[in-house]
Amino acid sequence: MFNKSDLHSYITFDAATGKIHLKDQRMILVGTDAIGLLRRDLIRSVGMDQAKKILLRYGRNYGVEFAKNLKALFSFESPFEWFHAGPQMSKITGAFFSQNAKIIYNHTTGEYFAEGYWHYSYEAEQHLKHFGVHNEPVCHTLTGFIGGYASEHYGRDIIVKEIKCVGKGDEHCLMIAKPAKEWDEKDLLDQLDQDSQEMIEINSPFLKIEKQRDAYKKLLKFNEKLSEILIQGQELSSIIKFLGETLNLGVTLEDKDFRLIESFGLFKYSMLDIINSTFAERKPA
Ligand SMILES: [Zn+2]
Repeated sequence: MFNKSDLHSYITFDAATGKIHLKDQRMILVGTDAIGLLRRDLIRSVGMDQAKKILLRYGRNYGVEFAKNLKALFSFESPFEWFHAGPQMSKITGAFFSQNAKIIYNHTTGEYFAEGYWHYSYEAEQHLKHFGVHNEPVCHTLTGFIGGYASEHYGRDIIVKEIKCVGKGDEHCLMIAKPAKEWDEKDLLDQLDQDSQEMIEINSPFLKIEKQRDAYKKLLKFNEKLSEILIQGQELSSIIKFLGETLNLGVTLEDKDFRLIESFGLFKYSMLDIINSTFAERKPA
């Protein structure tokens, strides 16, 4: 049974172990300044646009997990109770204070629309602290979180957008949530890619540099080993074997007339063998 009038009773502090739990789920208490610094460094590292996608993705995944966990932790009497438990529980996380303005929700017909205010958003506070007033809403993790929670509960993609935000100078944050298909395509641009880890990797210049650095390290190691084999005067077959195993490829060594000298792996034929067999196949009977 979920008791919405006494939410704090679900949080326990174990003095012996130092652990905090929400019923059976372990939680940690983190200062908003610490998260704000991480958020600041993320934005400085990958830029505002890319950071927005990462924060939205983080929030959305968190919302999905939170919805699943709440369902597992509590015996909700109805889907509607589960639906409302998310915003109620989020009040005790301290991230923001939500106030619903309008909710239309029909699990049978699929109708869904929600409008609500967020007060005291920690994310807007931290954004203002490090970057000042922005030209668009900034509560990306909260936006993602509510969208993720609603989507998990609803069973279809719900997309949340902030219409007003303290981070862009408004008095409060105002969000609208509705099914993805009811938004214009331009409104979904930031959130459409949320499931694509590849998108984040491809667009991140730092990950690209990291991959290039790894490739460079491998190349250096490869050169060192190859030099070692050559200095030791090992046989040609050892060199070809090393190349094949290291590159994970078939390797052939041919003379200037394409005759096979050495091979490793799948390639057992020289270019000359291949050419001869090709012409032999084409020869009329
Ligand atoms: Zn906001």
